Amino acid sequence: MTARILVVDDVLPNVKLLEAKLSREYYDVLTAMNGQDALEIVEREVPDIVLLDVMMPGMDGFEVCERIKANPNLMHIPVVMVTALSDTSDRVRGLEAGADDFLTKPVNDIALFARVRSLIRLKIMMDELRLREATSNSFGVSENEEAAEEIVGGRILVVEDREIYARNINQALQDRHEVNMATTSDDAIVAARSGNVDLIIVSLSLQDADGLRLCSHLRSMDESRQIPILILVDDTPDQMERLVRGLDLGVNDYLIRPVDLNELLARTRTQLRRKSYEDRLRANYHLSMSLAVTDPLTGLYNRRYLESHLENLLQRSAVENKTVGLLAMDIDHFKAVNDTHGHAAGDEVLKEFSTRIKRCVRFIDLAARTGGEEFVVIMPDSSLDTCLGVAERLREAIEEAAVKMPDQDLEISVTVSIGVSISRGADDSMASLMKRGDEALYAAKNTGRNKVVSEEVEAPIATAM
Ligand code: GH3
Ligand code: MG
Ligand code: MG
Repeated sequence: MTARILVVDDVLPNVKLLEAKLSREYYDVLTAMNGQDALEIVEREVPDIVLLDVMMPGMDGFEVCERIKANPNLMHIPVVMVTALSDTSDRVRGLEAGADDFLTKPVNDIALFARVRSLIRLKIMMDELRLREATSNSFGVSENEEAAEEIVGGRILVVEDREIYARNINQALQDRHEVNMATTSDDAIVAARSGNVDLIIVSLSLQDADGLRLCSHLRSMDESRQIPILILVDDTPDQMERLVRGLDLGVNDYLIRPVDLNELLARTRTQLRRKSYEDRLRANYHLSMSLAVTDPLTGLYNRRYLESHLENLLQRSAVENKTVGLLAMDIDHFKAVNDTHGHAAGDEVLKEFSTRIKRCVRFIDLAARTGGEEFVVIMPDSSLDTCLGVAERLREAIEEAAVKMPDQDLEISVTVSIGVSISRGADDSMASLMKRGDEALYAAKNTGRNKVVSEEVEAPIATAM
C-alpha cells in the first residue's frame, strides 16, 4: 500500500525528518515550505495525503486546509494537521477548517504510520466510490457535490459502560445529534444491525467487554461494515498499542482521554460528513446499476433517466445561453387500439411508434417513453421553430403509414398529438418546462388531435404551425 504524501512545514529540519521517516517506509514524499507552494503542489500533483504544519509565516496551515477543502477536486484528499502538543484550540480550529486528523509534534512514529495507513485505506475506498459516481454520472444519474453545511441529526451509538464518561459524551453530543447508549457488546451489535446508526463511538476501556473485539465484530458484519467507528483510548502504553491494532482493524478515528469535548464534537462532525458523502455515492451507484435506464418494450429511455438528464441539461444550457426544446407526445385514441386488436397488437404499435421517433430526431436529442402511450423528446440547443418543425415531421411520420403487424395480415393506423415547449433560461425549471409541454399537448387533444401545438409565448418567437 504505497502513497504520495505531501509534507508542508516552514522549518527545514522538520521537513527533512518527516521525509526521512516516510521514505524509509517506501512512501513517495513531496515537500513544500510555505502555504502557497503547498497549494500549487496539491493542485498539480494531487497527493494522497497532506501533512500540514499549522504555524507558518504568510498563509498558515488553517488557510491552506480551508482552500483544499473548498475545492471540489481536492476536498477528498485527507489533510493531517501537525500541531504542538498542548494546542487544543488549534485542533478545534483545524477541524473547523476541515482537517481530517492531527499529529502532535514531535511526531511519534506509531501515531504517524497508524494514521497514514488508516487514511490511505479510507482514500482508496473514496477514490473507488468517486470513480463509480463518475460512471453513473455518465448515465445521467444525478450528481451532487459534497455539501459543506453543518451536519446535525446524526444517529450516534455510544458504547461506554462507565456512567460518568457516558454522561459527559451524551451531554456534549445530544444538542446536535441523536445519541443512543449501549453498555454491552450484545446491545451494541443489535443496535448496529438496525441500520439506524451513522457513527459508533466505542470505549476501549469497557469493564465487562473487549472494545477492540467489538470493533472487529462490527467491521465483519455486513450491516455495520460501512459505519464509521471512533474509539476512546486511555493515554497508557498498553492502550496505545491497542489503538494501533484498532486502526489496522479499520477503526476510523480516535480520541485520547481526557476527551476534549470540542474535539469530540468536531471529530464526530468529520466522520458524519464523510458517512453522508459515502452514503450518497453508494446510493448513486446502486441507482445507476439497479435502475434500467431504458424501457424494455421500446428501447427508449425511461422517465427516470429523462428527468435526471433534463435537469443537468437545463442547468448547462442556462449557463451557455442555449435553449432546450421539449416535445410532449401522446398517441390518439390508443385505448381503442387495445380494445379492438388486443394488448399485444397495441405493444407492436408502441414499438413501431418508437422506431419512427428515433428515426426523426438527431443523435443528441433524447427520446423517452414516459408512460403507457406517452413519449417525450428533448432537443438540446434548439429554437422553438426547429422543435415545431421536428414535431410536425414526427406527426406526419406516424400518420402517413399504418403499422404492419408481424405474422398477421393486419395494419393499424394511429395518429399522435404533440405539445411543444421551450426553455426560458436560468429562471426556468424542469417541472415548468414539462408542464408547459403538457398544457400544449392537452390543447392539441382538445382541438381535434393529430396536430402540433406550441406553448404560449409572450414574445413572438415563432408563429404557430
Ligand atoms: P387520447 O387520444 O385522449 O390520448 O386517448 P387514449 O385512448 O390514447 O388515452 P387513454 O389515456 O384513455 O388510454 C391510454 C391507453 O393506453 C390505455 C392503456 O390500456 C393503453 N396502454 C398503456 N400502456 C400500454 C402498454 O404498455 N401496452 C399497450 N398495448 N397498451 C398500453
Ligand atoms: Mg393517448
Ligand atoms: Mg395518455
